Amino acid sequence: MKITLEPDRCVGAGHCVLSAPEVFDQDEADGVVLLLDPDPAEALVGAVHEAADLCPAQAILVAEAGAEAGADTGPVA
Ligand code: SF4
Repeated sequence: MKITLEPDRCVGAGHCVLSAPEVFDQDEADGVVLLLDPDPAEALVGAVHEAADLCPAQAILVAEAGAEAGADTGPVA
């Protein structure tokens, strides 16, 4: 899986960090999402999808291996 962030959209809600703290963090100064692991292990796939689905700003784009980022499983509108 490949993760792409759109930090300009991030509103600092922090759902991503709660869902997958191994993959996401927030900047201490402004709360904007940081990507700790752009290609996380298989065991974290569910948590990453949860994070993308819960993100209120749709700032997390997820693509499975072999797909373009955001092409198949972006956040659910
Ligand atoms: S859940 Fe979305 S809006 Fe909230 S910190 Fe993470 S990326 Fe930003």
